[in-house]
Amino acid sequence: MWGQNRDPWDAYHRAVEESKRRIKAEKVHAIQRRLTEKRRIARLPNCPTCGEKCEYNSPHCVSCNQELVWAEYLVGVPGDEVQLHQQLTMDEKKYHKRREKRRAIRKKYADRNSRLESQQLIIFLVLLTIAIVGLFFLWPQLKLYLR
Ligand SMILES: [Zn+2]
Repeated sequence: MWGQNRDPWDAYHRAVEESKRRIKAEKVHAIQRRLTEKRRIARLPNCPTCGEKCEYNSPHCVSCNQELVWAEYLVGVPGDEVQLHQQLTMDEKKYHKRREKRRAIRKKYADRNSRLESQQLIIFLVLLTIAIVGLFFLWPQLKLYLR
């Protein structure tokens, strides 16, 4: 029996496999991190002077040292402030418009569903009424039958 006294070669190979696996996992992790960072950088705004990517709210471009001004996610050079804020307001309006549109579509579907439900309820009530009225009128004949 192997028991506590494992084959040292076995233990050695196991340790090698384990460290290989760990290295591989770390590599995959590093690739994922790099990809995430790449995507983040790709979404950053461009310097208005040299076109390089700029980190949000950084006061200067790291590439050309251009002084930068920011309006939320929009970047410009000093003097662009008014224009940037106008753009921001326009973006916000567009965003709200889109949101309103989506909301209107959702509401339309909800209304249609509730209309369908009330139609079904009306149909059910009409059929119930017909059944009750029919039973009321047929009751004398039914009584004869049942006797
Ligand atoms: Zn620049």
